[in-house]
Amino acid sequence: MNCPVCKQGSMQPTKELCKDYISEKFFKLLRCNKCSCAKTDFKEEDFQNDFYGPVYYNSSKGKFIPLIEKIFQWNHKRNAKNIYHNFKPKNVLEVGCGRAYLLKELANLGIEVSCLESATAADWILNNKDVTVATLSDSDEKEWPFPVQCFDLIVYWHVFEHIDDPILSLEQATKTLKNGKTLCISVPNISSIQARIKPTAWFHLDVPRHLYHFSKNGLVELLTKQGYRIEKVVAGDAIQNLYGWFQTLANLFTPNHPNTLYRFLQGGDPLRTVSKLSLVIQLVTSVIWVPAGILGYLVESITGMHGNITIYAVKTRI
Ligand SMILES: [Zn+2]
Repeated sequence: MNCPVCKQGSMQPTKELCKDYISEKFFKLLRCNKCSCAKTDFKEEDFQNDFYGPVYYNSSKGKFIPLIEKIFQWNHKRNAKNIYHNFKPKNVLEVGCGRAYLLKELANLGIEVSCLESATAADWILNNKDVTVATLSDSDEKEWPFPVQCFDLIVYWHVFEHIDDPILSLEQATKTLKNGKTLCISVPNISSIQARIKPTAWFHLDVPRHLYHFSKNGLVELLTKQGYRIEKVVAGDAIQNLYGWFQTLANLFTPNHPNTLYRFLQGGDPLRTVSKLSLVIQLVTSVIWVPAGILGYLVESITGMHGNITIYAVKTRI
């Protein structure tokens, strides 16, 4: 198939099988021979399964144990302050808002916030009253419920890779973003060093929830073709980049049971249903993956081949 991202290369199936740590099903990737972006090779009937569910969302209180949730909240508070400082937006749209930590912080800073969520995700996450959320069913994916050119900033924070047609979503975002204003996309980077170590063990691959896997060059090319000027490409969230190293290296020790450490940090149902032996192995081998992961993180920081990247792009034409 033709690559939907760069529209120049062709997507070929890769040899390796990637295991979903929740459903325990295996998936192949289709990878572009030009821009290196990849797509999870899924069939229509795969969508009948719920690949999110209780192990993914954990509970209505949060995805993680309280300490980790606090760290996430603190991190989003920092992100919100940076957004306020750099862009001074009057209004912000976040596409896919998770637990809405970022939007709540932006709202506290006096910014008008909106969120767009899929109807399925909304069932899980819309238990807060602080944020107005527009839900999007499959039928109205082609037409977002917002006026043309109405937002000062649109954010996709680890969401773009979950969308089954990210190109269509980007076209809609471009329509609703004001001219000269910024689009911010943060995604895992499949051309990063941590992804290249062993793609099937890479924590941020997260098949089949991640339907697309973007390379830095592929995403830059896509945005440029859609009429954006790339302002900057920076390292994504530091915690996610460092954790990406830790979990990817730990997964090398338990290839049949990936992400057990992650489930340990989630607590609740994810921890109760995890393989205890693989958890012990991942914890014991921390003497190896902690120092190796810190070293990898430093190398990524120096080379700019980060596990997650954030792109800021300015809309230059309608
Ligand atoms: Zn491509």
